[in-house]
Amino acid sequence: MTSRCSCGAPSVYLARYSGEQLCEEHFLRSVEKRVHRELRQQGPFKHGRIAVALSGGKDSVVTLRLLHETFRSNPQLELAAVTVDEGIASYRPPSIEVAAEHCKELEIPHEVLSYEETSGVTMDKLVVHPARAHMPCAYCGVLRRRNLNEAARRVGATHLATGHNLDDVAQTLLMNHLKGDVDRLARMGPHRAGQVLPGLVPRILPLRAIPEREVALYAILRGWRYHDGECPYAQDATRGRYRELLLQLEEETPGTRHALLAGYDRLAPLLREEGGTLRACEACGEPSSGARCRACELITSVGGRTQPVERA
Ligand code: SF4
Ligand code: ZN
Repeated sequence: MTSRCSCGAPSVYLARYSGEQLCEEHFLRSVEKRVHRELRQQGPFKHGRIAVALSGGKDSVVTLRLLHETFRSNPQLELAAVTVDEGIASYRPPSIEVAAEHCKELEIPHEVLSYEETSGVTMDKLVVHPARAHMPCAYCGVLRRRNLNEAARRVGATHLATGHNLDDVAQTLLMNHLKGDVDRLARMGPHRAGQVLPGLVPRILPLRAIPEREVALYAILRGWRYHDGECPYAQDATRGRYRELLLQLEEETPGTRHALLAGYDRLAPLLREEGGTLRACEACGEPSSGARCRACELITSVGGRTQPVERA
């Protein structure tokens, strides 16, 4: 028997965590409603310029297009897109092409910033560096964070929106909890203006309450093109383990990811009061517990350049 939505139409999706069967129309509306609720909670966003971190993958495409639909009638609030080019010849160029197509269609300015330009390295060169070849994602992660901030700054952004979905956020929360890394927990976005050091663009995460499968289904149902290739250097085994663990917990107890996020949202204000011990890295200005941050240490260890964040 065909499963049906409460409106009587055939279901396209079963949300196990709530027991709801949703037809196409109600599924689309349900995602939009939750994104709008997040934006209200993370905002208000009435004026300024939001830079969207746009890789061309499903999460970033959905973020860009939903923000565009949400704010298009507000002339005081502009969007820009920023794309990081890691220098991975077999992987990144097609996704930059997809990103550029969306920006062209929506008439949104698009800034592409490469690791080569900011740090003098590419991931293709870095993975063959004798001392560094075994942990590409650790380097790539710190370089990406830096480039996204720099690109957002270049386009004059007041906020930087990333496409992190509920699965991404729940994995990071679990990882930081299990490592006892309270400082990192305290620094996780979304941020409000004034919650980050000068020169850093506060992050917002419009999709943080939407499970990854729902983001993918939403993009498919809306007919939005996205890039879903896999990076040849993907080997972040730690995150993979947390991903598996969470999927297993979710299977046994639907709603686990939502509960983790809701618990964190209650704790976050207390954690932020505690986590006041950071200072600006002397080389780049990113938050750091020592004189120089991890990113700058990693970059100089492979012969790259560190780059100061301009102070606001
Ligand atoms: Fe960078 Fe790792 Fe992502 Fe590849 S999988 S883009 S190396 S972080
Ligand atoms: Zn630094």
